[in-house]
Amino acid sequence: MAVLADRLTDVVGARTANALASALDLHTVGDLLRHYPRRYAQRGELTDIAGLEIGEHVTVLARIESTTKKPMRTRKGSILEVTITDGSRRLTCAFFGNQTWRERELRPGRTGLFAGKVTAFRRSLQLANPEYELIDSDSDDGLSTVDDFLSRIIPVYPAAQGLPSWRISKAVHQTLEMLDAEPDPLPEWLRREHGLPTLFEALHAIHRPRSDAELRSARMRLKWDEALAVQLVLAQRRRSTGGRTAPACPPKSGGIAEAFDERLPFRLTEGQREVGEAISADLAGEHPMNRLLQGEVGSGKTVVALRAMLQVVDAGRQAALLAPTEVLAAQHARSLRELLGDLARAGELGGAERATRVTLLTGSLSARQRKQALLDAASGAAGIVVGTHALLGEHVSFADLALVVIDEQHRFGVEQRDALRSRAGEDISPHVLVMTATPIPRTVAMTVYGDLETSSLRQLPSGRSPISTTVVPAAEKPAWLERVWQRLREEVAEGHQAYVVCPRIGDEPPSEKTERPPVAVLDLVPELENGPLAGLRIGVLHGRLPGDEKDAVMRAFAAGELDVLVATTVIEVGVNVPNATVMVIMDADRFGVSQLHQLRGRVGRGNVPGLCLLVTEALEGTSARARLAAVESTTDGFELSKLDLELRREGDILGAAQSGKRSGLKLLSLLRDEEIIARSRRVAQRVVAADPELTEHPGLAALAADMIDDERAEYLEKT
Ligand code: ADP
Ligand code: MG
Repeated sequence: MAVLADRLTDVVGARTANALASALDLHTVGDLLRHYPRRYAQRGELTDIAGLEIGEHVTVLARIESTTKKPMRTRKGSILEVTITDGSRRLTCAFFGNQTWRERELRPGRTGLFAGKVTAFRRSLQLANPEYELIDSDSDDGLSTVDDFLSRIIPVYPAAQGLPSWRISKAVHQTLEMLDAEPDPLPEWLRREHGLPTLFEALHAIHRPRSDAELRSARMRLKWDEALAVQLVLAQRRRSTGGRTAPACPPKSGGIAEAFDERLPFRLTEGQREVGEAISADLAGEHPMNRLLQGEVGSGKTVVALRAMLQVVDAGRQAALLAPTEVLAAQHARSLRELLGDLARAGELGGAERATRVTLLTGSLSARQRKQALLDAASGAAGIVVGTHALLGEHVSFADLALVVIDEQHRFGVEQRDALRSRAGEDISPHVLVMTATPIPRTVAMTVYGDLETSSLRQLPSGRSPISTTVVPAAEKPAWLERVWQRLREEVAEGHQAYVVCPRIGDEPPSEKTERPPVAVLDLVPELENGPLAGLRIGVLHGRLPGDEKDAVMRAFAAGELDVLVATTVIEVGVNVPNATVMVIMDADRFGVSQLHQLRGRVGRGNVPGLCLLVTEALEGTSARARLAAVESTTDGFELSKLDLELRREGDILGAAQSGKRSGLKLLSLLRDEEIIARSRRVAQRVVAADPELTEHPGLAALAADMIDDERAEYLEKT
């Protein structure tokens, strides 16, 4: 018999165990049994071929439609082309070499599982030399012999090269036969309270469901394990930070914050005012604020953050603003100084009476500037210090840091936020305000950001113009690409400006890959200058330009001295040139949904509608195209983040990804399992309140320890 901690070698034999270890990183019985089926094929129901993605390892259940044999051109032998279908779409399987037996076996009309890497071949999808297992009635080596009662449902596992789904299925079967029932990690009262089966039952049922009901309840139980693990850790975290105190910064009348409000050139939106009040109340207290502020690009988060920082300055303390890149930090410092005017010129000629100082502290400062900046932070002369997250790692000391504002949360990991908390000293944490333009669905906020309060700005300041987005399928409709450049010229002729964004800079050494590398700034610029954009004033911006050059280019563009800015994603956030009305994004499929959304927020900032053109060679029907279609379909960031989450999940399911990389969240869907997440949160809260270290609950303690680390890290990386 075997338990979950046992090595697989003793259960399935060395050969299979080695294959599972090297291909999927599965080493123990528990690893294998938590390698759940990606999905379940129903005998007779074929896999939807439209959902397959180039470059991924997939397992499809399909019917053979036709076969043809062609001689190979370059050497002796032949290619057997087998066309398989899901009833509407087709996929070609190419087998190389002389294999008369294969031709006999792969007859039209038969059904089987086919596994391999999806490639594009002459504009259609292909599997080259796939592994396969025929499963229709006249095959006697099919799954029916492997699994006697699994006559209807076929589990399809995340597979890897050389380790197709059905081999994994056999190993799982063997392992389940040997499995011993151990003490359940979830205590009995909890299982009873929520109607959950035991782990032993659930593991059997998820791999070999005898009915849909059994499968549903198994999945529910295993999702609980995941949700509870996350929530337990979060509950513990809340407990430990709950004991910390923060520097209290009550609002002060007659201070710099009031002076700033008086001279604001616009009226705050209702949302800005409400969120501002909530933040103000938090800052006044001695409990560390931990708040996420989400709002569309251009919704006016910066003003909200600045008002919070000024309240802190009024209390005689300091605020730090962290941006994801140096370019952005510099830009933030500039725009804060602009917004503040003479209120930011303390000690200078022309500085206002109640002024403070905004200090930029980045790696590209000269030694002398740097020394001064460090001094300003340490002495308290700088009420506001702006930098990148490097500010935390370096030996920067503050006189009295009370608030840290982080712009664009997605670039910051949880660890960085933790590092931050300890900055203010023993048992004292600064208040933290995190700003993001990519809204986060409630369940994600509860899970990944479980310890953050969230507020949203759902309304754009008046005077914003709509952005329309169009996907330009360059592979299918090359003429559309010409139209893109024409359109851009038209905007310039109207006196407007344009961005062209590329995924790559182009000064990297050439790669070995045969696939076309993504479009690069340095390659595209001469092509445009000598081609479709000849005669226009074109500027170049990317992360490897020296800092002063970057600044000069940005300034020239902002001043209207350039018509077109060809850039990498350095312009993603914060850049504000209202006269720019069109953005062309090359190889748009290389960017994530939220990144595209951020990027296009750079246009339509003035009173002219913005236009965003997403150029791609991804083929229709791929999930890359589905992502672009989502970006095209809505400019509502909240809606988009839901679509994105959904698409990512579907991609995972259909892709049967090569990597079997273990991660805590395998079944739990942050989108669909809101109820489980909410319930497990309440349970975790209760358990941790009574037993903070989980000493009375060793099963739960182990569950939490096992799952938590890579899950959070991974979600953050993917975003
Ligand atoms: P975000 O950081 O949310 O993308 P910003 O704070 O940078 O947005 O605001 C974008 C622009 O809108 C800035 O120029 C800012 O001064 C302006 N703005 C902010 N709030 C308002 C408002 N209530 N009314 C008009 N303009 C505003
Ligand atoms: Mg901003």
